[in-house]
Amino acid sequence: MSTPLRKPPWLRTRICSAGQLAAVEKTLERKGLHTVCEEAICPNRMECFGRGTATFLLLGPNCTRGCTFCAVDKHKPHPVDPAEPEHTAQAVEDMKLNFCVITMVTRDDLPDHGAAHIAETIELVHKVKPGLGVEVLISDLGGNQKSLGTVLASEPEVLNHNVETVPRLYSKVRPQANYERSVELLDRVGKLRPEMITKSGIMLGLGEEEAEVLEVMADLRKAGVDLLTIGQYLAPSKRHHPVISYPTPEEFSAYEAKGLEMGFAAVASAPLVRSSYKAETMHQKALAA
Ligand code: SF4
Ligand code: SF4
Repeated sequence: MSTPLRKPPWLRTRICSAGQLAAVEKTLERKGLHTVCEEAICPNRMECFGRGTATFLLLGPNCTRGCTFCAVDKHKPHPVDPAEPEHTAQAVEDMKLNFCVITMVTRDDLPDHGAAHIAETIELVHKVKPGLGVEVLISDLGGNQKSLGTVLASEPEVLNHNVETVPRLYSKVRPQANYERSVELLDRVGKLRPEMITKSGIMLGLGEEEAEVLEVMADLRKAGVDLLTIGQYLAPSKRHHPVISYPTPEEFSAYEAKGLEMGFAAVASAPLVRSSYKAETMHQKALAA
């Protein structure tokens, strides 16, 4: 067995006060809510919780798919909690968020893949905090166009769907997903709702080549995607897909420059960037573009 690569120094994370962290955790616990920050063991938890922001993980915490890079639990999915949309909206209010990110596990067991539940949550968040921006990070909804229409009808400010990696690696790391289906979903959003801001993201370090990353970026631009995130893959455990490489911060910056040249309104590309990292800032940049 090969020795795992050592983490480079630029992946050290920052610390926030225990008080700030505890306040966010208490709100989430009281409402029985999950965050992707905790379920996916995001390296930015200290920073984001310290700023009072979090990404709500709905319909979870268990996922029906088995991506080999992902820390989210793959056990039998829980029954849908009908109170979750309301609890999420209340938490957004209690936490005094200015921008909210809502994401979901993939629910291939549900006829609409969870679309109505997500749409209800977005509507309730807008109702309790009119004017608050909502980014929704959705699964591929099994390619179901009706389900996509349901989510779009709830008017999220940003529609995000991550392609995660290059097509060659899908069979290894996203065996139940399909690269073309994911790009098509983003393309469809652009065609159905040209005014809606679209976003996608990929991780580096799973074994991709630079030329393949650039091809994915070109595909996303062709599909009209406005915002792009690129971050370092970190293996959640020894059982997950190993980290194959740690591109340097300079290499991440080069992708950012290339992305802006290609026409993305904003690109966040750095080792610690995650899909929802500084989501509000990216939204602002898209509005200003
Ligand atoms: Fe994780 Fe999403 Fe894959 Fe489910 S579909 S295992 S939540 S990356
Ligand atoms: Fe949560 Fe996103 Fe921040 Fe990570 S980057 S801690 S997932 S809000």
